Amino acid sequence: MSLQCPRCNSPKIATLRTATKITAAVGAVGGAARGVSTALAGGQVGASLGAIAGPIGITLGTVSGAILGGLAGGVGGCALGAQLGEQLDRHVLANNLCLACNHRFNLPA
Ligand SMILES: [Zn+2]
Repeated sequence: MSLQCPRCNSPKIATLRTATKITAAVGAVGGAARGVSTALAGGQVGASLGAIAGPIGITLGTVSGAILGGLAGGVGGCALGAQLGEQLDRHVLANNLCLACNHRFNLPA
């Protein structure tokens, strides 16, 4: 997709990513929290399996399940948040900046 300035038709457009950064961070935190809560259930499965190996197995199963779930949720949430933020930046917040005439504009939806 090539951007053009609606005022001077210059193709030199910078996209400021204010919302992208913020929503990616929020999405990562929210995704991690959701991932951990999902993973705690998974951790119990791990704990049941680990119980065969004794108390250490229970701890390892629970912790590794929670960590993996948190990471997976965080990555997924971050990607979703970044997509949402990019839409906001490009279409709502006028974060497209023409490098030729300094005109800031929204992309058409
Ligand atoms: Zn321009």
